[in-house]
Amino acid sequence: MCQEIGHDYGLDHQFTNSGSCMDYAGIDNPAYVSPNTHDYNQLASMYNHGHGTAAAASGPSTTAIVTGDTVTSVLWTD
Ligand SMILES: [Zn+2]
Repeated sequence: MCQEIGHDYGLDHQFTNSGSCMDYAGIDNPAYVSPNTHDYNQLASMYNHGHGTAAAASGPSTTAIVTGDTVTSVLWTD
């Protein structure tokens, strides 16, 4: 259920064995029943609306989009 809700919010699968419900590796392991830090960082990157209080995702290619910006391209990475 966690993985399907993650998909609804735009998260992709992980194959990193790092304890995310977006990973198939531990599908029967209770440690994999919730999102991990990577998932939350991805959500912050996708949904950060630039008010300065939301946790901005780190990463060299991450740019906050603020009101008035024009987005001309989006690069999706895993
Ligand atoms: Zn899936």
